[in-house]
Amino acid sequence: MAPARDRYDIVIVGAGAMGLASAYHLARALPDLSILVVEARSGPGEGSMGASNSMVRDVFSSRDNQILARNSIAFYRHLMDEREELRSPVPLLDLYGYLWMLPENLREEYFQLIARSDGAIDADPVDLSDLRACPGLDLAPTRWYEGDDAKPPPPVTGGLFGRNCGALAPEMLAQFYAEESRRRGVEFAFDTCVQRLSFEGREEILLHEPSKRPFAFQELMEGRLRIASVHLGDGRSVRTDRVVVAAGAWAERILHPFGVATGCAPRVQLNFAVSGSGVAELLRWEPPVRAIDRVDGRTRFPFLILPTGATLKPVFRQTQLWVGCLDTTAHAIGTREDPGKDGRLDYNMAELGERDAFGTDVLPAVTPYLPRFETSSVRLENAWGGYYNFSPDGLPVLTEQPYGVLFVGGDSGSGIMKADSLGRLVAARCEGRPDARLFTGESYRVDRISLSHRSVEEERIIL
Ligand SMILES: Cc1cc2nc3c(=O)[nH]c(=O)nc-3n(C[C@H](O)[C@H](O)[C@H](O)COP(=O)(O)OP(=O)(O)OC[C@H]3O[C@@H](n4cnc5c(N)ncnc54)[C@H](O)[C@@H]3O)c2cc1C
Repeated sequence: MAPARDRYDIVIVGAGAMGLASAYHLARALPDLSILVVEARSGPGEGSMGASNSMVRDVFSSRDNQILARNSIAFYRHLMDEREELRSPVPLLDLYGYLWMLPENLREEYFQLIARSDGAIDADPVDLSDLRACPGLDLAPTRWYEGDDAKPPPPVTGGLFGRNCGALAPEMLAQFYAEESRRRGVEFAFDTCVQRLSFEGREEILLHEPSKRPFAFQELMEGRLRIASVHLGDGRSVRTDRVVVAAGAWAERILHPFGVATGCAPRVQLNFAVSGSGVAELLRWEPPVRAIDRVDGRTRFPFLILPTGATLKPVFRQTQLWVGCLDTTAHAIGTREDPGKDGRLDYNMAELGERDAFGTDVLPAVTPYLPRFETSSVRLENAWGGYYNFSPDGLPVLTEQPYGVLFVGGDSGSGIMKADSLGRLVAARCEGRPDARLFTGESYRVDRISLSHRSVEEERIIL
């Protein structure tokens, strides 16, 4: 789909969670500006957003993450309350809770965190005796896996049930943002890849040949250095004064050659769908918690986090669990695809999935606590992969160069649940306001998550 014009006030690269929320809030805040969203895939939300678990939570150790997530979740809930089409066929937001199975050291840390939040985080402790009823759960494993004589993983000594936590339907959120942005005049160019950004086309600027890099001193001349063009993979280009790069894991591929650092590192993360009688029995378990809601009179199986960091997401309609485990070592940093070089983005979440890694990397983190995963009662159905774009501290990054290039990203595995707040921050930044008003009315200083004036505590709960 070709852009309709050759010039826009703002070009957004990427129609993932962050680009879409940015487009929506920019169109609301600055209705007179022309805005183009360029997306390499054929629809919104088909990058890492489409590969994700799409869970939401406000249980974070960093106060900034708590605020960004809490406000976004409140907005998603408000949308669902307001619009019938966001309640079916599945609800946009389904809060069935997160249940952390905690070893002693984390139990103390997490309980202190909840106490310090003064009621802002809605989470209850769960007694060890109540966890015993979870089918097939081994609270005190004696080994990692067969033939391994390393010290076993730590015993579970209690649980924590987060109540403002659950699942979001990513395709519904993506459609909402895209349709509402379009209604406000935002244009979308799908199946269109941004290959590079450039200063070319600005009359007053001096550029090296053939690299088209600017002469360094011009950075010091106020107003001289300003982005001019966004070059597309098919050879066309559009002119603009401002670019918002919300390209997720692939942002570096167009920003680094342009001389912009993001401070972030993308890495593949895998997800596995399992089914079978062992899964069905687990899903029938009614956890002993203060239920958020009941379906058919029952408390539902929550998103479960084991002490090893392995996560199990219930997918009730398919009687499946989606199993994953945070990876910060097995995969190299970087993306396999390079839109900057190839002029297209060949991302395929199924090809990125590695079935073998289920046995080698994930099962050892699950079976000590749930030995049934080693039996035929649990069957691997599917494997796929996407990226986490890790920031150094687990908080998002929003940074702008004086020459009109803004980066929003650094999701660190929890970008969908903070996307609405980040979209508001992008809009505030483009309006020239130092503070953004988040959904609940809370004010948030935009440069808290910049690189130059960053003022955040490191996040300790990355799943
Ligand atoms: C296995 C897994 C589980 C996850 N679980 C969760 C979870 O439970 N909750 C949560 O909040 N997050 C989760 N995440 C992370 C979540 O996917 C990200 O936080 C979110 O997708 C980040 O949004 P984004 O817009 O920055 O990136 P993306 O969603 O990847 O969007 C970026 C978009 O930019 C496009 N693009 C990139 N380069 C170009 C280019 N040069 N030209 C044109 N278009 C381009 C891409 O096609 C893509 O659509 C998970 C991720 C994975 C992989």
